Amino acid sequence: MTRTETKGRKCDGKRRHNSKARALAAVAWHVARGAAPGALTAYACEFCDGWHVGHRPTKGRRRRT
Ligand SMILES: [Zn+2]
Repeated sequence: MTRTETKGRKCDGKRRHNSKARALAAVAWHVARGAAPGALTAYACEFCDGWHVGHRPTKGRRRRT
């Protein structure tokens, strides 16, 4: 049996979703359980070709750009 090595994958251990819709559903799942809306985001992964749920950087202070 051959074992696929996934060494070096940044998303190792992360929950993977097959589509954006599924990832967004996971975000809704977390929000329904108390996560702050807007704190989580779904993003396409460049390593596994799937989608993950990640934490969006919180805006502490507004900064003019
Ligand atoms: Zn991934």
